[in-house]
Amino acid sequence: MTDTRSPQTIAAANGVGEDAAFGAVAPPIYLASSYKFEGFEQPGAYDYSRTRNPTRDQLADTLAKLEGGAGAVVVSSGMAAIDLILSRLEPGERVVAPHDCYGGTHRLLSLRAAKGQFEVVFIDQNDAAVLDMALTTGRPKLVLMETPSNPLMRVVDIAAVARRAKAAGAAVAVDNTFLSPALQQPIKLGADFVIHSTTKYLNGHSDIVGGAVIAANAGDAAALAAWANVTGVTGAPFDAYQTLRGMRTLFPRVETQQRNAGAVAAFLDAQPQVKAVHYPGLPSHPSHETARTQQRGFGAMLSFELRGGLEEVRRFVNAVRIFTLAESLGGIESLVAHPATMTHANMDPQARRTAGITDTLLRLSVGLESEGDLLGDLAQALRCAESEAEAWAR
Ligand SMILES: *Cc1c(COP(=O)(O)O)cnc(C)c1O
Repeated sequence: MTDTRSPQTIAAANGVGEDAAFGAVAPPIYLASSYKFEGFEQPGAYDYSRTRNPTRDQLADTLAKLEGGAGAVVVSSGMAAIDLILSRLEPGERVVAPHDCYGGTHRLLSLRAAKGQFEVVFIDQNDAAVLDMALTTGRPKLVLMETPSNPLMRVVDIAAVARRAKAAGAAVAVDNTFLSPALQQPIKLGADFVIHSTTKYLNGHSDIVGGAVIAANAGDAAALAAWANVTGVTGAPFDAYQTLRGMRTLFPRVETQQRNAGAVAAFLDAQPQVKAVHYPGLPSHPSHETARTQQRGFGAMLSFELRGGLEEVRRFVNAVRIFTLAESLGGIESLVAHPATMTHANMDPQARRTAGITDTLLRLSVGLESEGDLLGDLAQALRCAESEAEAWAR
């Protein structure tokens, strides 16, 4: 079905005012696990909530429309969404994944590959020669992308990689968690599947864990929905309800948060205590041009490197008042994380250095607080981070 409404309208109003029972403006939540048959051999539209649920369907419909897909499957977490896509693979078939993908994705791919369920190669997808090698040897079946990457905000050209993948007969899946459909629509760039941890920007309020897969093609969407029913990984109605409620404000949230993030990036870039800032919106970012063309905005995630060592990091994170020291991202509140000891602590230290994740790298998820308060908080924390000797040396 074609929906001619703009994405902002779909996010704000899909399903609003359509309640057939009582005319409720906000779509009601259906927690029921089971549904009455209309008569003998006459099931209704729904029979059992693992298979289908009206609240979850409402969220899936909204997500499919926002991503420009034919259908979506809502599951219990972002990891479950990635695992659902992996159900398409047979032993011996190859997954081509980014070397700097989300840590949980790296772990899932590695553990399933170790069981022989498929083969996985982790590569730098911006290196055309390495990508061609991964696609012209073995049996490539799926190219998984994640852009911008975590925590260094590296950007991959989705259309260029998708073209190469298609030529090699591989399907393309893009983890769009860091930007949300408000800022990037991978299906328009050639992806067959879009993956979300709805835990992040889509829900946006840091109070559920959920995931979704959106498929470009209706047959693929139906096959994934059928498999999600087989394994029972479908999402809970309450989480779907919360996520839908969060998505009503997706566009204004993301727009304000990325405006704040742009101000934070420019501010940090000018501070003597900061060695480097990784934000695709800065003209100095190596993929600034790619980000400008394939994204509708630069997002609200960034990372930066402090001068000094772990002691400066400790002083900085102990000094921030508005930024909360926590993992996860995409909520309305600003968070700071230290990848080397938090999100990427399980990575082998050598692999971490190779990936460019230094001990003084800090990641920010910029929220909805006032720009002045955010910059003020960072300014005072940077002063606290700096040792007296460093301050004197300047
Ligand atoms: C958080 C995250 C995931 C995993 O999602 P969960 O909801 O935590 O299971 C996958 N990919 C990216 C990019 C993420 O940020």
